[in-house]
Amino acid sequence: MKIFTEEELLPLSLIQHLLFCQRRAALVEIEGLWEDNLFTVEGTHLHQKVDDDLSLESRGDLRVTRGLMLHSFELGLSGKADVVEFHRLSEAAVVSSLTPEGKAVGIPVAGARGVWRPYPVDYKRGRLRYEEGFEAQLCAQALCLEEMLGVAVPEGAIYYGKPRRRLVVMFDDHLRTNTRDAARRLHELVGSGKTPQARYEKKCDSCSLLSLCMPKVTGSTKSVSKYLSRVLAD
Ligand code: SF4
Repeated sequence: MKIFTEEELLPLSLIQHLLFCQRRAALVEIEGLWEDNLFTVEGTHLHQKVDDDLSLESRGDLRVTRGLMLHSFELGLSGKADVVEFHRLSEAAVVSSLTPEGKAVGIPVAGARGVWRPYPVDYKRGRLRYEEGFEAQLCAQALCLEEMLGVAVPEGAIYYGKPRRRLVVMFDDHLRTNTRDAARRLHELVGSGKTPQARYEKKCDSCSLLSLCMPKVTGSTKSVSKYLSRVLAD
């Protein structure tokens, strides 16, 4: 198994872009393009509300941290978590200190009794819905926490801003495999330095990079930068 160095870590948020569209991940990471639209502005606002409040909340069996920096040398990813909750496990739930996979079932928290389990929560704009990239990005955060703390993280949630509701996500083997595979493909894509060709699909209409990518126009060329250079040269 390849273990990445600190210099090789890529932004964890690229997992979501890659699973939405490989070209979008390449435009962001390889070509350095980004443009806010309604979706990302509202999403950023939600994140800012999370980032602005850096206090540690403490309520009974719950501790809430915001803006925790995460990394995984196995996935080659790093990024900031919106929220990581720590849930105190009931004594009845702790039948053994280790899971069958050899991870701790919970970790101690300073000044509190018992053991606690991390529970990542990612903030998203809009209505409650399933998106492969959202789940994989959250799972990548769980894998980071497991690697950093040596503790099992079996579950997390995506919080949707409009209905103010959570979608619980179980980090099963299928999702973990998909997430690891996405991280591997992301490193291959960025390592290649090549932006995949544009291909217009329905999802392009909600893409934050639509006006820069121009999939209906640039379909025959791989790079937005090269396309613009060609237009300017013409
Ligand atoms: S506009 Fe379409 S092809 Fe271009 S980056 Fe977005 S989803 Fe991908």
